[in-house]
Amino acid sequence: MNIVPITSKIENASENLISMLLSCVHDMNNGVILFDTERRCVYANAKILQLFHLKNDLAQVENFWHSWIEESHLEDYKNIWLQSYQYENKNYLYEIHYHKLFSDENKFIGSYFSIYDRTTESKNFNKEHYRATHDNLTNLFTREYFYEVVRSEIQRSPLAKRYIVRFNIKDFKLINDLFGVEKGNQVLQHMADFVATIGEKDAVYGRLHGDHFAICLRKDYFDEEQIIKGMQRISNVIENNSYNMAIHAGVYEISDPDIEVSIMCDRANMAISSIKSDNNCGVGYYDDSLMKKVLREKEIIGEFSEALKSGQFNLFLQAQVKSDGSVVGAEALVRWIHPTRGAIPPAEFIEILEQQGYIHHLDKYIWTEAAKLLSSWKNTNKQDLHISVNMSARDPYYMDIYQIFTDITKKYKIEERKLKIEITETAILQNLEKQMQLVSKLRSSGFEIEIDDFGSGYSSLSMLKDINADVVKIDRAFLKKVATDERSQIILKSIIKLSKNLGMEIVVEGVETKEQLDYLIEEGCSIFQGFYFSKPLSVKEFEKKYFNGD
Ligand code: C2E
Ligand code: CA
Ligand code: CA
Repeated sequence: MNIVPITSKIENASENLISMLLSCVHDMNNGVILFDTERRCVYANAKILQLFHLKNDLAQVENFWHSWIEESHLEDYKNIWLQSYQYENKNYLYEIHYHKLFSDENKFIGSYFSIYDRTTESKNFNKEHYRATHDNLTNLFTREYFYEVVRSEIQRSPLAKRYIVRFNIKDFKLINDLFGVEKGNQVLQHMADFVATIGEKDAVYGRLHGDHFAICLRKDYFDEEQIIKGMQRISNVIENNSYNMAIHAGVYEISDPDIEVSIMCDRANMAISSIKSDNNCGVGYYDDSLMKKVLREKEIIGEFSEALKSGQFNLFLQAQVKSDGSVVGAEALVRWIHPTRGAIPPAEFIEILEQQGYIHHLDKYIWTEAAKLLSSWKNTNKQDLHISVNMSARDPYYMDIYQIFTDITKKYKIEERKLKIEITETAILQNLEKQMQLVSKLRSSGFEIEIDDFGSGYSSLSMLKDINADVVKIDRAFLKKVATDERSQIILKSIIKLSKNLGMEIVVEGVETKEQLDYLIEEGCSIFQGFYFSKPLSVKEFEKKYFNGD
């Protein structure tokens, strides 16, 4: 190799020393390249030629160098930077150290670069970094990395209007349970592919955890119709009659770019919880009232157990009466008497307790309270009264209903037929076969079953013949419709006729006026419940109103 000598600053250096230094530089494992004051290349060691795939030709080296080097780094007299180099479709990464050289009199005499190959380290680092920032299964960003990249996107252009859209597969656990983990993984992979197709090229997306995915995209690129179509396409992957896969998307518009990305994702999750149709793919949107609702839900769940223990839940009774106003029994309706907030109506907490899986604790408590009360009425002027208790559609998931009812009637020594059980029409339809079995088991032990809220759902009259109940309770809202809607009048007539033919009693709920009562009596109804007669009362008030407190 042809080594071009340079003038040495080492005074009195022997020729021997100079040639030793030159050989040393020549053999170095890092590239060394020198330029004179005119930026002419005066020396390049062997490593330079190797690193840049150059021939031993200083003119060629010089040309290459000037075209490749990033000039902006050369302004300082000393600098270090990383610069990539490409050759035959391969990428290399070099660390460059730049020095300007000055004589003892501070005169500029040239410059040199030393080059270190960082390609392997960078590849290893990239691999590590990739592994740490990407999800194993889907190759999407992990949650932490998603947060990080979204944050830097927002910083890059803080004024752009963006959405965070979060996806969740409803009851995903069931897919794993019913069809196996492999199928579950396949569905997740489909989700990942789908999320990657939404939004503009700078959109950021990732897998937050389990079956939760998220994307941050520009508002203009959000297309609800496309998203619903995409989700429906994925849900068709599972072809099964007993499981209907639904994917939900929650949308949060980033109105405050300063809040943490994780909180933005929580808000998109709240938007999901606002979607009503559980069994279909759908999109929900965040707004501030949702936040209030979620906080309220948290509060209720947080206080529930203690409230139940400390007796804040009270049994109230609403009379069920004959047309002459004489009482035959009552429906047990719960009231939460909160120490600071006063009475909280069931509408504010029943649904939340159902959704969060707590309702069965409350129901069991109320059923027991009702049984105790019936027991205390034994051998009194109230001994003929029954109490109807409500059963949530969720209760059978958490406890053995049959066992509990038989246990409490035994414990409090009450007749089974005195404790009537209200099951809503919708609960029955949700799981007809199971409910039918439960109903017939309870009836065979002497309990009476009432179909609650009849006429409120999409029930057909034929349901009445399927389920062997004792009482049909006509829903309040349906009764309201009867006043103005002729079709409802006809349906009511049919319900009454059919129930009678099947040997079922009818209780009409929500009777508020004398006109309603007269009409219902004429149609052949005999038991009524409603504000016209009485609101739900505390046990004390109830006993006072109907039995003079005896
Ligand atoms: P529901 O079972 O349909 O109970 C009847 C509701 O209608 C009661 O509301 C009652 O106060 C109201 N009501 C009765 N007559 C009239 C009337 O003439 N006009 C009007 N406007 N309303 C009338 P409440 O007590 O607020 O209960 C609401 C719902 O909460 C109940 O509807 C029931 O689904 C649920 N619930 C109440 N207590 C319990 C319980 O212990 N367990 C379960 N699982 N659910 C309960
Ligand atoms: Ca009821
Ligand atoms: Ca009802």
